[in-house]
Amino acid sequence: AIEVRGLRKAFGALEVLRGIDFSVARGEVVCVIGPSGSGKSTLLRCVNLLEEPTAGRITVAGTEVTDPEVDIDRVRRRIGMVFQSFNLFPHLTALENLTIAQRRVLRRDRPTAARIARDQLARVGLGDKEAAYPAQLSGGQQQRVAIARALAMDPELMLFDEPTSALDPELVGDVLAVMRALARDGMTMLVVTHEMGFAREVADRVVFMDGGLVVEEGTPGQVVGAPRHERTRAFLSGVL
Ligand code: ATP
Ligand code: MG
Repeated sequence: AIEVRGLRKAFGALEVLRGIDFSVARGEVVCVIGPSGSGKSTLLRCVNLLEEPTAGRITVAGTEVTDPEVDIDRVRRRIGMVFQSFNLFPHLTALENLTIAQRRVLRRDRPTAARIARDQLARVGLGDKEAAYPAQLSGGQQQRVAIARALAMDPELMLFDEPTSALDPELVGDVLAVMRALARDGMTMLVVTHEMGFAREVADRVVFMDGGLVVEEGTPGQVVGAPRHERTRAFLSGVL
């Protein structure tokens, strides 16, 4: 579902991604781990062209997004993205947060958008919160609304950038449970995370990045359980 070849990204003289190759197959869950500043968020942002790569090719669901001719809005529509900060509209209810893009981008009529929104809110365990405003929800609930909002757009794949790192520890579990269920339902997922328990349990593969390069990748048992590289071992000893 995602193919990244020779991806480079520089901000001025700073080379943040220095030749990244990896892929995520349909239905696969790949977790990206690595130290702060290693380029994980930049990688995710390149996949939906929130950042323009300096070099390399990225293909998402069969469309080469780095082709200058591509209609990037069409591609983005098929990619769900969930960030550390939830980015909900504060003046809209949970339900309205889920219907607005469905109506504006996918041109769904109001009853259809509302029905899909209710289904997705129920899926993340918030069927009783459709009338709540973001400020009336906990951080974990807001993040689950953000996930439901992405799902309401029928994405072919989901990108997550540290979706639980802004949450109080007691709220992390509910969000991870939603992501685990999503993985079990067969969603293609690329997840930047510091949650090693989640990576070990849910990921099909783990990619360890450092200094803008993929240092090693493999099954969770290989990368987290028995890392081959000293850099990976040093990183894991700090986070486990
Ligand atoms: P963290 O774990 O802290 O989120 P990360 O692995 O996600 O880190 P990135 O956010 O991808 O790292 O940043 C990698 C490097 O690129 C950092 O040195 C950062 O300062 C730099 N960087 C990111 N975005 C920009 C930008 N828009 N302009 C200039 N430099 C940037
Ligand atoms: Mg980041």
